[in-house]
Amino acid sequence: MKKKKKLLLINPLNPYKRDALFDTSTISPPLGLGLIAGLTPDEWDIEILDENFGEFQYTPADFVGITALTSAANRAYQISEIYRSKGIKTVLGGIHVSMRPDEAVQYADSVVVGEAEAVWAKVLTDFKEDKLKKRYYGDQLPLENAVWPRRDLFNPGYAYSNIQTTRGCPMNCDFCSVHTFNGNHYRARPIGDVLDELETITSEHLFFVDDNIIGYNKASAERALQLFKGMIARGIKKDWYCQASLNIADQDEVLKYAAESGCKMILIGIESEKVEQLQETNKKMNLKIGVEHYEEAFKKIHSHGISVLGALVFGLDSDTIQDLENRANYAIQSGIDAMQATIITPLPGTRLFERLEKENRLLFTNFPEDWKHYHFLEVIHQPKLMSPEELMETMHACWSMMWNEKTLYKKMLKTLKATKSAKAATWAFTSNMERHNTAFGNKKSPLDINNMLNGLPLNR
Ligand code: SF4
Repeated sequence: MKKKKKLLLINPLNPYKRDALFDTSTISPPLGLGLIAGLTPDEWDIEILDENFGEFQYTPADFVGITALTSAANRAYQISEIYRSKGIKTVLGGIHVSMRPDEAVQYADSVVVGEAEAVWAKVLTDFKEDKLKKRYYGDQLPLENAVWPRRDLFNPGYAYSNIQTTRGCPMNCDFCSVHTFNGNHYRARPIGDVLDELETITSEHLFFVDDNIIGYNKASAERALQLFKGMIARGIKKDWYCQASLNIADQDEVLKYAAESGCKMILIGIESEKVEQLQETNKKMNLKIGVEHYEEAFKKIHSHGISVLGALVFGLDSDTIQDLENRANYAIQSGIDAMQATIITPLPGTRLFERLEKENRLLFTNFPEDWKHYHFLEVIHQPKLMSPEELMETMHACWSMMWNEKTLYKKMLKTLKATKSAKAATWAFTSNMERHNTAFGNKKSPLDINNMLNGLPLNR
């Protein structure tokens, strides 16, 4: 029998994250690599090498595919060069590579720009015929016949599984590259196909990675409703969380069936409690709902036994130091249960990046080396109303305020009272603890927070 060729797919990790920020309980499997494996015919042996579970060790292969988020891009290039130095061809893909193909192509034999589904078969054929092109451009295909990821290749250590049911976003937030990568048209998989795939997932904990599970119109909200009803009808029992826009609070029936099908938490991009910053980020949905209605929305979600993971962004051009402190206080006082608080980070492919680059306000521009700083917990731009040092110091103070032990336990009790769900409260608490660990060093107790703050390097 002819020996199969080996395709090695690699998920690199920013080494800085390994040292300071890493917590395997906060992450879910590399779905993109699973999809690539699903698209690869049987004539290949496939392995996923995942740096989330240990530093890369050289593994022999005939062909190597590497994905990368921006913060791990340089690591991806380093690994690619190791294989190329041994004469093994590499192909790079994923969101960062798609936004910076001219950069990535210097470190690989080939790059896939955009979604890989449309071109992966061609990449493999060209590889076999030794005609690999430098670049392949993947169109955004409809998701009617979406391939399923090869879950059997994921590391079994992930705390929860994930699934994608839609792609694309018609919104145009200043700091986001989703609409550039996945397009501004909302594409959805057929419900039956999603349910079939869900039935194959053994993990009890699930993350719907869709950027907005309810979409942007009545038809997409109805689709979400049918999905949740379908999960109940088929007896698919999972505890899950998802991402959705704030207007999910207006969808009583959707929330009811989301909860019944196992929803414990919804991640919502709140960004800011002030109109000025929402305008700056072009967060149209939140502006439409109105900051004065946030609390009603949180209450509505809570009334269905679901907690709110609120994502807030800090360090916008219109932010003063007082605004940052107010936002941290707002997060603590508000009905947000799990508090995500990141520093605005200009990723390539966003309008934010273009603007800051043009204005010469990026502090780390020695690319690709400096991509390692682009992980949302470091100041990498010159703020308008304070110095970078002031922003970083204020963020340490805000994180300390938000994620100290007393606040987190109080939050948990508040969530428990509001949702009347021990599971929803536990999920929110765990999420807060994960963020605490991520910001202050893996697995350290919140009791040590002040010591840890002293130990943290001030970035620039
Ligand atoms: S942040 Fe969310 S709503 Fe805004 S463009 Fe990105 S995916 Fe769309």
